[in-house]
Amino acid sequence: MEDTLQPIRRIGIMGGTFDPIHMAHLAIAEQVREAFALDLVLFIPAANPPHKQGRKVAPAYHRLMMTQLATYSNSCFHVSKQELERTGPSYSLLTVREVQEKYGADAELYFITGSDTINELHTWYHIEELLDSCHFVGTTRPGAPVDKEDLVKRFGRLAEEKIHFLAVPELEISSTDIRQRVRCGKSIKYVVPAAVEAYIRKEGLYQ
Ligand code: ATP
Ligand code: MG
Repeated sequence: MEDTLQPIRRIGIMGGTFDPIHMAHLAIAEQVREAFALDLVLFIPAANPPHKQGRKVAPAYHRLMMTQLATYSNSCFHVSKQELERTGPSYSLLTVREVQEKYGADAELYFITGSDTINELHTWYHIEELLDSCHFVGTTRPGAPVDKEDLVKRFGRLAEEKIHFLAVPELEISSTDIRQRVRCGKSIKYVVPAAVEAYIRKEGLYQ
């Protein structure tokens, strides 16, 4: 019988510090997966985030465990340890190249982000090369409107061809707020998956 297995062609990359992973991360990944007909979404926790130097980030193994717990029930969601296993800063360009190598030159890569990240893209390492290598999808995030004209001014044709936008039900959730809530003894139910909440409590994170 002929082999009917289809190659994986459309891959989402959901990068983040995931300190901790929360419902908005999961919701935007699922919305983009559906809207862009992605075959799978790779959740890739950042090791040594170039944008967050200066703030103490929870140990990588806790962030990895929480990411695994949060994504386990979605068969299209996978977790990649590639940035945690690499030494040096978590440059997305290297990550995208590794994913392309793994899934082959035909695979189309979609970097999934919130609109705050789209507004910061110009600060990213070798951004033009990165925009050449993958698509970006900016999902709406409360308080972070995107100036599309500014993007075109900065990146020209690359902005028009490679940066896409998706309106999603906006969730005013951030890891910063969750960490603060835990520190103040407030509830984090329904803003993180139950298993992540249990993990945070058991390991005494963010106290
Ligand atoms: P922190 O407060 O520590 O910065 P965060 O909630 O912003 O955490 P990150 O790990 O920094 O989470 O974000 C990973 C990706 O998820 C980024 O592209 C970010 O824009 C996106 N994202 C995070 N929260 C939301 C949200 N509520 N709505 C849309 N996108 C989001
Ligand atoms: Mg953030």
